[in-house]
Amino acid sequence: MNTARTGLTKPHDAEKETVISDPADTGQRIQRLRLINALSQAQLSEATAVATGLVSMMEHGRYGLDSESLQRVSDSLGCAPEYLARPGRQPITTRPWLRAYADASKKAVDRYVADTELAVEAVESLRLKRLPELLPTFDDDLNDDHAIEEFATDVRSAAGLQSDDVVGNCIRRAERLGVVVLPMDDELGRHLGLSMRVDGTPVIRASRPHLVQDGLVSPSGDRQRFTVAHELGHLALHATTPPPTTAQQARLVEQQAHRFAGAFLTPAEPLLSDLDRLGGRVTLSTLSSLKEIWGVAIKMLVVRLRQIGLIDDQHARSLYKQISARKWNTSEPVAVSHEKAVWLEQALSRAQHDEHSAADALGLDVRYVRTWLNWDLDTSGHDDLPDGVVPMRRKRHKDASTRQPVRR
Ligand SMILES: [Zn+2]
Repeated sequence: MNTARTGLTKPHDAEKETVISDPADTGQRIQRLRLINALSQAQLSEATAVATGLVSMMEHGRYGLDSESLQRVSDSLGCAPEYLARPGRQPITTRPWLRAYADASKKAVDRYVADTELAVEAVESLRLKRLPELLPTFDDDLNDDHAIEEFATDVRSAAGLQSDDVVGNCIRRAERLGVVVLPMDDELGRHLGLSMRVDGTPVIRASRPHLVQDGLVSPSGDRQRFTVAHELGHLALHATTPPPTTAQQARLVEQQAHRFAGAFLTPAEPLLSDLDRLGGRVTLSTLSSLKEIWGVAIKMLVVRLRQIGLIDDQHARSLYKQISARKWNTSEPVAVSHEKAVWLEQALSRAQHDEHSAADALGLDVRYVRTWLNWDLDTSGHDDLPDGVVPMRRKRHKDASTRQPVRR
């Protein structure tokens, strides 16, 4: 309807009213924070005395809140009413790539997607200076392993690595490629990583270490590194790939990301020349030494050497059996340190922010910002551990520039 002629909704009239921007934007913000807090609509309704049916309508922008209800909703979601009422376009998010996507709980996936959207929105509204994206795009045949190997070489060089360099810190290399890397808890079960683009910004979420039974730390440092490389593979290889529709397609997509990760972390030539130097035989002992150099799990090195064709299936099977007999499936020898992202913390500090001032500027409770910065070992739920348990006795993993223990 053209109402301008009648003068009923002239812009300056609207300005005098309480500014609740577009109810659809507010609704999406409410939904996002609700998902991050893992609340159902019924739970939010109970906490805010807004009827359940209205919560749903409100999230879809079909029910505008009065200022009193808006206040109650913000209180229960840990944000300022202004945050919810602020005008602003909602981000466009790609479907996340997730290791073995099918068996992750929808609630946990929704939570991390919502939290990632919030983080990218925060980066934009705090005007943090992003690193330019240097991640090359794959335009070859995804079923061609050789093409993926070559592509991994290109990505390594875009990340500033020489052909025989060890990836000293995989998270920082991803950051250097312009990827925002954020931590996540272990709620995705076996799924240690997730990647997606929010408004075009590439984001990887990687599990921060947490204590599991017997004082073991999960994921191990090498597993964390491999996950980041795997997710980097998804971002670079599968930018335009439609979601897999069959289990077999899903498996292929996973194999491609795995192949990329193997080639990114352990390029064939220098890996084989290290093995030569160690005597050339593929045994648990030489594999342990290779793990020490390359920071890749012994089991993954078996996969890698099989991919390269250095060992055959039978040899690989025999190694898997030995690994299993030593119970290395749960805990391998040779500890590799965990990694942390640094970009966000540095960008905040360059913008003269700490987590509190950033949270204030965003109109969010500080716990939201903290989640994006905390890479420390999570010991929650393990108060019963005997005193003196220090789970992280990790050898310092030196950076590629100084780390050449075998090749010199
Ligand atoms: Zn994957």
